Amino acid sequence: MKEFIELIQNSNHLVALTGAGMSTESGLPDFRSQGGLWCGRDPYEIASPQAIGTDDFFEFYQMRIEDLLKHKPNIGHYVLTKLEKEGILKALLTQNIDGFHQLSGTQRVIEVHGHMRYLVCSRCGKEYPATAYRQCTYYCTDENCKAPIRPPIVLFGEPLDSDAWDSAVQEVEQADTVLVMGTSLQVYPFAGLVELAHETGSKIMIINKTSTPLDYLADHVIHESISKILSEIATSIFGNDWFAHLKEHNQV
Ligand SMILES: [Zn+2]
Repeated sequence: MKEFIELIQNSNHLVALTGAGMSTESGLPDFRSQGGLWCGRDPYEIASPQAIGTDDFFEFYQMRIEDLLKHKPNIGHYVLTKLEKEGILKALLTQNIDGFHQLSGTQRVIEVHGHMRYLVCSRCGKEYPATAYRQCTYYCTDENCKAPIRPPIVLFGEPLDSDAWDSAVQEVEQADTVLVMGTSLQVYPFAGLVELAHETGSKIMIINKTSTPLDYLADHVIHESISKILSEIATSIFGNDWFAHLKEHNQV
């Protein structure tokens, strides 16, 4: 643990990569783990471009948006925000679409799989509030369009947003230390960022509850809860008082 903390403190360009494990610690379900969100339903059928405009699609994403409103960032999100404020963390790349990193105050966040802060028309791109589905607005209100409204996320089978992806690659290329948290590293191209970090000679640290196929590339691997480890890191770097204040202030 001491070495782990030193690596973070001594880094010149620390970049964090986060996945579903970051969100499950806020109580959000992980659709890839057993018993998760997709249990009993085929994710490729609902979260696919072909499903846009079907009742299943609207119902599913309405549920996910409502789910976000019932949960909030956890202590781990806030520790990452603090690391950024102190100039240690330079960028955060996430697979998560919950927007919790921004909610906790992190500025430089690249959401490679998009987000659900608002909805967009699938044809003309007109923006709608995230509450549109709840208000029974499922189709574009533009008379000449009327196409289904969708979240601006990357569905199965859709390409990543090239600007977001290019930024993510650039950040990893600039990094000298990469901290990977809560991702099983099984989804490409995201997992490829860790391989890229290895190729460019970065130190790699992984925190994940279970082992990942890329653990062998890492300098340090911890199979633990992310918020537990980040709490230890924060206490060590910023002190007990700061940590106690954080917990009290954000009620996490
Ligand atoms: Zn439209």
